[in-house]
Amino acid sequence: MQIIRTKSDLRTLICTYKNQGKVIGFVPTMGYLHAGHASLMQLARGGNDVVVVSIFINPLQFGANEDLDKYPRNIRGDTELCQKNNVDILYLPESYDILGTNLHLLSYVNITLLDQNLCGAKRPGHFKGVCTIISKLFNLITPDKAYFGRKDIQQLRIIERMAADLDFPVQIIGGETSRDKDGLAFSSRNAYLSDEERKMAIIVPETLEFIRNLIDLGISSSEALIAQGQQFISNANISNAKLDYLEIVDDILLQKVTEIKQNIIVAIALYIGKTRLIDNITVLRT
Ligand code: AMP
Repeated sequence: MQIIRTKSDLRTLICTYKNQGKVIGFVPTMGYLHAGHASLMQLARGGNDVVVVSIFINPLQFGANEDLDKYPRNIRGDTELCQKNNVDILYLPESYDILGTNLHLLSYVNITLLDQNLCGAKRPGHFKGVCTIISKLFNLITPDKAYFGRKDIQQLRIIERMAADLDFPVQIIGGETSRDKDGLAFSSRNAYLSDEERKMAIIVPETLEFIRNLIDLGISSSEALIAQGQQFISNANISNAKLDYLEIVDDILLQKVTEIKQNIIVAIALYIGKTRLIDNITVLRT
């Protein structure tokens, strides 16, 4: 595995592979890698000649009061995980290499509509930051395929649309959410949870599965489903849990639906103490 730290070294290496006709798969991450990231690396390994993983904690996607400064880091563990998963190139840029010496860009990539609900509504500017940096990484790496987790379904849908709208010659591939034995989705932010909070955190996937069961039982009103989901969380009596959102949206443009008639996503963001956990499920209607 080659560890690359500068744009110019990256471009040179990518150019060599492209000249050899190699198919390049790309997995962008913010590091503190876990089994969810590994599952994307495996997908990429299976479908490409060359697998590139980037680790860049993108400051543009953090709000002023968010956790940029304390976002977990473990470069040694991350390097080992990439090696174990047969990654070819690990790109570890310094901030100034991506954002310039002033750490400040004057050009951004923005998206409309798809960022109106869910995390887009709660984290203003977040997806502008994501789209801008992912665009830059796409321009640098010129991947044939890029892999994003369904765990961040709004990000996946936004990147799919951005790539289509802006004609990035890349195929966007979504990977299933990897979960721990008890159902909690793997997330770098799980590292913030105390042992006690980690146990409580299963309320997140449990709420989603509770709503899925209600849909299976024939309840189709979003309002009723969300009210029951909220009640489910209240009944669990978790003292430091605070719901950020629980929403039901369509699976294409991520707009709120009143009745479950088409494929929908049930998505949740819940604080356990100071840790914000997100998760979602898709309910298919054929
Ligand atoms: P992050 O490092 O959190 O920015 O995530 C990098 C990529 O890994 C994103 O495409 C995420 O959606 C994906 N990812 C994060 N957690 C999981 C998970 N539990 N299962 C599958 N993919 C994930």
